[in-house]
Amino acid sequence: MNALTIAFVTPEAVPFAKTGGLADVSGILPRLFAASGHSVRLFLPLYHKIRLDFADLQPLELQLTGRVGSRSYEGRLYHYHDALSGLDTYFVGNALFFDRDELYRDPQTGLDYTDNSDRFIFFSRAVLDALRKLDRPPDIIHANDWQAALVASFLRTNHTGDDFFGKSRSVLTIHNMAYQGQFSADTASRLGIDSAFLQPAGPFEYWGKINFLKSAIQFADKITTVSPTYAREIQQSNEFGMGLEGVLKERAADLVGILNGVDYNVWSPKNDPKIPYRYTPANLSGKKRNKLELLHRVGLPLRTEQPLIGMITRLDNQKGLDIIAEVIDDILGLPLQMVFLGTGAEEYHRLLTQAEKKHPDKIKAFLTFDDNLAHLIEAGADIFLMPSRFEPCGLNQMYSLKYGTVPIVRKTGGLADTVIDFNDQTGQGTGFVVEKYDSGELLATVERAVRLFRRRKVWYRIIKQAMNQDFSWDISARRYMELYQSVINRNT
Ligand code: ADP
Repeated sequence: MNALTIAFVTPEAVPFAKTGGLADVSGILPRLFAASGHSVRLFLPLYHKIRLDFADLQPLELQLTGRVGSRSYEGRLYHYHDALSGLDTYFVGNALFFDRDELYRDPQTGLDYTDNSDRFIFFSRAVLDALRKLDRPPDIIHANDWQAALVASFLRTNHTGDDFFGKSRSVLTIHNMAYQGQFSADTASRLGIDSAFLQPAGPFEYWGKINFLKSAIQFADKITTVSPTYAREIQQSNEFGMGLEGVLKERAADLVGILNGVDYNVWSPKNDPKIPYRYTPANLSGKKRNKLELLHRVGLPLRTEQPLIGMITRLDNQKGLDIIAEVIDDILGLPLQMVFLGTGAEEYHRLLTQAEKKHPDKIKAFLTFDDNLAHLIEAGADIFLMPSRFEPCGLNQMYSLKYGTVPIVRKTGGLADTVIDFNDQTGQGTGFVVEKYDSGELLATVERAVRLFRRRKVWYRIIKQAMNQDFSWDISARRYMELYQSVINRNT
């Protein structure tokens, strides 16, 4: 296979900046491609936190410009080379747009920054400018989510007939249809593209507004999303496509679902340095000790005969918190204990704080972002709760499988693709699947799991089947590479 030149453009990537699963994907996929001999450049904005955490970063000589409407903004490019994989990461620096405490939201108001449209118009333009100034054109420009989507759109609007990018092909990956980059109509004038593209019902317009993701769905050579089931769901109904189902359906021939993988160097109980006791399916004594450690650390009584349910999540409607809220007292009436870790919507902070007050010996909630605690919960809990309304892929249920923390999931998106409902007749299955988005069914499923937890032999069988699942990145990385090759071959 020929080595490809790939530009991977993303608003987040581990270890630099993370608010969600997109960062995990962007942290590993480009590294795998680089390590297997491809020439890969990862592009990110230079956020304030990256400047603090990677204080050695120095700007290159090269000056970038990014036009937003009639104004041209200057930017600097910062370079970081990872010797282990060979990956080159480039940060687009512009203090006005990116030197802020949070990635997308003003921490003071809790609302999105009012100039998010301009920030990512600038970012997309600056990345294209950087590519042109660095040296040879990329074979593939892989844009992730609405923040990078315009790279694919500009390529087919501003750069058509442009020799430099003449052979470059674009791939758009959608990590969540709930975030589309939708802005007021006046954003049109700041995109800096020919007005022919800005007509009503044109590629950028969506019900009188400007929609970044919609444009890229139409302009990208290939579109992927992060699980096969989600790829189907988002074309089928407004509930999942969130208004773009029609546009997605039109691109059905070029839309594929590729399941995210798990970085088992980071998330495996066999070698996780963040948990006190490591364990394998052959010897689960470490898991029991992690449970004691977790109960102790969070301050719950040591009722090891009862299952401990963990949940790590953004506290958002997507994640099933509204149906949990409806039955939380019933769930806490069962012989079980719970640990929550999450931040997000105020109403769910209140819900969990109240539940904790009411049932202090049964539930503890940590309303913060804490990676170390996340690892300990995965290792120490018996059951993981993830009853999402929709779930493009979801990572925590895959981590939970590997940690033998039996997941309860809703049958949607990546959850449907990764967890097999336990069948008492055949003894097969890796978790529990809630069919409908319904609090009654959720409660019944939690009851079923609690009952099975008492049948120790059956429970261990489920744990072992779960731990033996393999969702490593190699398989998914190969599928992306095949996709890249197909789009290059098709269009030349
Ligand atoms: P999403 O991207 O929709 O938030 P995923 O399950 O795909 O959901 O990925 C969430 C990632 O963020 C996981 O790696 C999870 O462990 C992590 N995470 C979410 N909330 C927290 C938290 N409060 N503390 C620590 N890690 C968290």
